[in-house]
Amino acid sequence: MTNKTEATGEVRLKGIAKTYGAFTAVHPLDLTVPQGSFFALLGASGCGKTTTLRMIAGLEEPSSGTVSLGDQDVTALPPYKRPVNTVFQSYALFPHLDIFENVAFGLRRRGIKSVKKQVGEMLDLVQLGEQARKKPHQLSGGQQQRVAVARALINHPKVLLLDEPLGALDLKLRRQMQLELKRIQTEVGITFVHVTHDQEEAMTMADTVAVMNAGRVEQLGAPTDLYENPRTTFVANFLGTSNFIEAEVDSRSGDEIVLKAGGGKLVLPESRCGAPTTTGGRVLVGVRPEKISLTHAEDAGEIPEGRNRITGRIADSSFIGVSTQYVVDSPVCSDFEVYAQNIDRDPRLVPGAEVVLHWNPAHTFGLDAAQDAD
Ligand code: ATP
Repeated sequence: MTNKTEATGEVRLKGIAKTYGAFTAVHPLDLTVPQGSFFALLGASGCGKTTTLRMIAGLEEPSSGTVSLGDQDVTALPPYKRPVNTVFQSYALFPHLDIFENVAFGLRRRGIKSVKKQVGEMLDLVQLGEQARKKPHQLSGGQQQRVAVARALINHPKVLLLDEPLGALDLKLRRQMQLELKRIQTEVGITFVHVTHDQEEAMTMADTVAVMNAGRVEQLGAPTDLYENPRTTFVANFLGTSNFIEAEVDSRSGDEIVLKAGGGKLVLPESRCGAPTTTGGRVLVGVRPEKISLTHAEDAGEIPEGRNRITGRIADSSFIGVSTQYVVDSPVCSDFEVYAQNIDRDPRLVPGAEVVLHWNPAHTFGLDAAQDAD
């Protein structure tokens, strides 16, 4: 017989909100984090992601709404009664205890005497089996963070919450630890909810990302989906660089929308348009810099049919190794940024050169210019 109130690693937030006096840190939020997923709350400082995490942990009382784990409403439960544990940026290890005892702590507190096997397995999981008898100060920052993860996992929580856990590490170690945490999550198979302001970190690790802005989830999706199909300029700009062109709906052709931009036309697949598609409607057309090719105007005839194209003049270029990054001024969009593959190393592509920018229409996305203006 299944126990209806058994907690699982599915996190469900219903209308959860947090106010401090007149200030709303988190507006009423509905969110479901599937069991076993690696979920990232991503946003700039102050957007409410830590507050949201702390409400899941029970460290912050919601002003309204409920937190459930599976079918169990845990809103009224104190943190230690929730099958949830948190890893903080400050590892909060016990300095006087060795690594083994730091990890064993949660078991000993529950009165479990024989801890050797479990602690050994957990240290192996985080690849610190050899370091068991060292003190925290004898380990690197990344190793200490792994101890903190092992300590948080020892009591088999259903959900692990991670609050900027890699924030104190230098960039190289951060990148290593991102992969390491992902591996650990895959191995233990429980739900991880990870707070970060680093878009690359969220994209590398998470299978689902919620982009937060001013106390609201602005968009939720798989990293590739958010990157390819942002629904607002905030999301487009937070996850990388975008070029935007103001355009107007001209007509339809099958499942494509034809837009007027400056003197020219652009094509946008209807499925990638988040704006009304009635004739005359204003659309903000977005395209990622790395999707754009650059051709000298003299060779414009060689550009294949069916590509979106705009003309411009190179304003600036910088060689960045694998590619050259160009800034192009165009009548439809000034300071258009282009990262073009520098395969041909065309020597004519220098500042002042007249060029054609062109890309596959499938890489275009359309935003509602009217809605995004406010
Ligand atoms: P950071 O990455 O800087 O921690 P965050 O996105 O996690 O940012 P929160 O810590 O959730 O943001 O804070 C959201 C907002 O709520 C911020 O404007 C913050 O100043 C405010 N806030 C948080 N805790 C309190 C509190 N105890 N009293 C008043 N305001 C608070």
